[in-house]
Amino acid sequence: MKNRWPVAYKIIDELEQAGFEAFVVGGAVRDFIRNAPVNDVDITTNATPDEVKKIFTHTIDVGIEHGTVLVVLDEPIEVTTYRSESTYSDFRRPDGVKFVRTLTEDLQRRDFTINAMALTKEDELVDYFGGRQAIEAGIIQAVGNPQLRFSEDALRMLRAVRFSAQLNFTLESETFNAIRSLHALIGHVSIERVKVELEKIWLSEFPYKGMKLFVDSGLSSIFPGDWERNLQSWVNFSSFNLKANGWAFFVLIQSIEENDINELLNRYKCSNDEKKQVKNVIQAVHNLLNGAWTADELFQYSDEVLRVAYHYGKFILSNDIALPLEEFLLQKRAIPINSKKDIVVNGNDFMQWANQKRGPWIKEVLDILTSMIVNGQIKNDRHDIKEWFSREYLH
Ligand code: ATP
Ligand code: MG
Repeated sequence: MKNRWPVAYKIIDELEQAGFEAFVVGGAVRDFIRNAPVNDVDITTNATPDEVKKIFTHTIDVGIEHGTVLVVLDEPIEVTTYRSESTYSDFRRPDGVKFVRTLTEDLQRRDFTINAMALTKEDELVDYFGGRQAIEAGIIQAVGNPQLRFSEDALRMLRAVRFSAQLNFTLESETFNAIRSLHALIGHVSIERVKVELEKIWLSEFPYKGMKLFVDSGLSSIFPGDWERNLQSWVNFSSFNLKANGWAFFVLIQSIEENDINELLNRYKCSNDEKKQVKNVIQAVHNLLNGAWTADELFQYSDEVLRVAYHYGKFILSNDIALPLEEFLLQKRAIPINSKKDIVVNGNDFMQWANQKRGPWIKEVLDILTSMIVNGQIKNDRHDIKEWFSREYLH
């Protein structure tokens, strides 16, 4: 680990010098064993947060109630005290966090065997639950009794599905059966937490796999709708990179049946940006269903909105769209301006030419002019525009 993760190595070394134990743990170990890029390295230790803070000069309390301190050396690394989670009464959060003395107890509270391994600074793997074997077999398996573990924290059920979509792993049968029988508990998890996991599924390499598991496990029943049917629209999804539009697509798929889009958007606690995005996509889909997108419409929508609307339109129309998406995007590129800001004149020019005060008329004129430029009826040229303006508005 010395050269691979120099900062983690240094932190572990200093903790050990002070007489404590410390290991790299969780996702970093999993991804290291998979030979995959490691996002962030987390450290687990038997030192308490106060003891960690005494050893390092620069630390930040990010979650001291969970035993986590951020140690900032060349980069920040989360150092968490060995802990177990005591009793759970709300299917989500432990009622309290209990610091424990041994690494084994700490690993035991972790969700899946693939996430429950530790690595010493000499690169020795600590693997009490068969995590490495699970990685080799491509299996996601709960640590301990899955029924119990999902009853403690219902979010773990969705995490299982999410890891399956990210890693292309299979859910071990007892783990899967436990989700099937306990899926309704996901209703205790806040929509925000559910959203985070769903978004990770959509952005994963195997979104269809994730969505299929989401439906097959029964977890999708937290959202209304005919999910067996909805699933069909995710079939070709692997080739369709959602980026920021996951929610747009998700809501759209459901709005096949639901007419009150505002109700849906509020139910999913979509942000104003997400709401705007969804509405734009719906509008763009309607435009597309009328035939093809006009230049005005291509100008109005972002590439992302057009992309989502196109795929969705294709789904509704069973692939029957006259032009490929690339063709529409080429047409969009051929439009001389990207936004109104690119127009070489502005409201002040109109006011001066007409010798008129500011008012709603400016926007009206600008809208007409924009559409004419977009449709190639007038050049984006100051002289031409002034001539047109004088002809139309000055008598
Ligand atoms: P990612 O690459 O998505 O960050 P990760 O494995 O690091 O994956 P995190 O959510 O960052 O996932 O959690 C870090 C570790 O904490 C996990 O590997 C797991 O050991 C443990 N963990 C996280 N959430 C839970 C949970 N809900 N129940 C039990 N253990 C959990
Ligand atoms: Mg992580």
